[in-house]
Amino acid sequence: MQSRLIILDEAVSALDKSVEAQVLNLLLDLKDEFGLTYIFISHDLNVVRYMSDRVMVMYLGQVAEIGDSETLFDHPAHPYTRALLSSIPSMDPDHRTEEPPLAGDPPNPINPPPGCRFHTRCAHAQALCSERVPSLSPIAHGQIASCWMHVAGSGHTEAPGLLKEAA
Ligand code: SF4
Repeated sequence: MQSRLIILDEAVSALDKSVEAQVLNLLLDLKDEFGLTYIFISHDLNVVRYMSDRVMVMYLGQVAEIGDSETLFDHPAHPYTRALLSSIPSMDPDHRTEEPPLAGDPPNPINPPPGCRFHTRCAHAQALCSERVPSLSPIAHGQIASCWMHVAGSGHTEAPGLLKEAA
């Protein structure tokens, strides 16, 4: 039987940039020709954007955000996704990255923090973030994200309020 799903784990990370571009284009051609689906795992965000229809962002082994590629790159919702995208080097000397997008080191994945695993590094963390694990919830632009800020009535001060039922 012909393969339909191929997992590519950091498939181009060790390649020279000019070779990388050739391999990525070859992969896209093969995908179209044989009707393939790729699970493409990468830390290179430009490569992720070029290759992906849908993107899943993970932090310490848990899903932070899922969305179609264009939406997620244009409207990142989870604070970790935002930090990741702001770490992409700018080609414009007038828009240099002056501050690190994240502070602190990643926690030990063998003994992850309780609640939201990102709370030790998140600029929006509040008390509930270290107490309760946020569930994946649908948000404004069609992604789903794991963050109390996007759960109506969660108790996070930046979360939307619950809609009142009509009397
Ligand atoms: S749940 Fe809290 S700590 Fe986690 S990403 Fe959202 S605001 Fe930050």
